[in-house]
Amino acid sequence: MTGKSTADAMPTGTTSGTPQVLLGHHLKQLKLPTVLREYDKVARECARDGVDHPRYLLRLVELELIDRERRVVERRIRQARFPAVKSLDTFDFPAIASLNKMLVLELARCEFILRRENVIALGNSGTGKTHVALALGLAACQKGLPVAFTTAAALVHQLMEARDERRLLKLQRDLQAVKLLIIDELGYVPLSPTGAELLFEVFSQRYERGSTIVTSNLPFEDWTSVLGSERLTGALLDRLTHHVHILTMNGDSYRLRQSVGRRRLPASPAAAEQNHADTETVDPDTGEIIDA
Ligand code: ADP
Ligand code: MG
Repeated sequence: MTGKSTADAMPTGTTSGTPQVLLGHHLKQLKLPTVLREYDKVARECARDGVDHPRYLLRLVELELIDRERRVVERRIRQARFPAVKSLDTFDFPAIASLNKMLVLELARCEFILRRENVIALGNSGTGKTHVALALGLAACQKGLPVAFTTAAALVHQLMEARDERRLLKLQRDLQAVKLLIIDELGYVPLSPTGAELLFEVFSQRYERGSTIVTSNLPFEDWTSVLGSERLTGALLDRLTHHVHILTMNGDSYRLRQSVGRRRLPASPAAAEQNHADTETVDPDTGEIIDA
């Protein structure tokens, strides 16, 4: 046996004996399950290929990192409570001409979440609003970001229940902790005054702190009918639309154009420009979408 090559070569792996038992224990404590599962096999491979110790360790650590990333994504998806897992791969963009595909693809990069911007998908029923919201949520999970999916009605129900059981603060804190909150179907169910106040508080607490995606079948001017109060609706829209991307998912582009035009203008020029760009795809004469 000549010095260096012997020293650098890996010992043949074995899983029996005291060191292995201790190693197993320590790796569990350090939460390195992939290292624990793979170290013996990789040791054999490295011994066979004459791979040195640092490279052996590197292989193991890389395996752990890859596995850890996968586990995080799986956990994020579980925690998000998606009713179904949908992605943009299965979304047929030509089927919904009013939708700005480039904007959706850009949003799927999730940078809007890091910038704490919001997304509102507006349009009549069945145009794929929930699908797109789910796909953006999935993309965020795949980036390792904490996401929560809920409907407006379920969220309000949850908030009221938490309030009655004196755990509202905890729920509010949990909601603040997610980087992307998806509130689906705002508009199908009118809310009680308390429900509307509680929902408003969620938006208020997330304002410039986290991203929210809202889907609604109602144009903005009709949101008052859901929230019950013009003052509250104005204040909510103010926060929600300050940094916002609008996804127009409606065959009736004329109505959408009206709804976007009538809502309160966002305060930041950048957001206003964004909105402008997003709504410039409508032909003013025909009300048709001319640039999807
Ligand atoms: P909305 O939320 O706007 O009412 P959904 O997203 O629930 O609509 O869409 C209804 C169903 O149709 C879902 O199963 C969804 O996956 C599917 N769907 C809608 N639009 C598309 C599309 N453009 N491409 C593929 N599937 C779509
Ligand atoms: Mg829906």
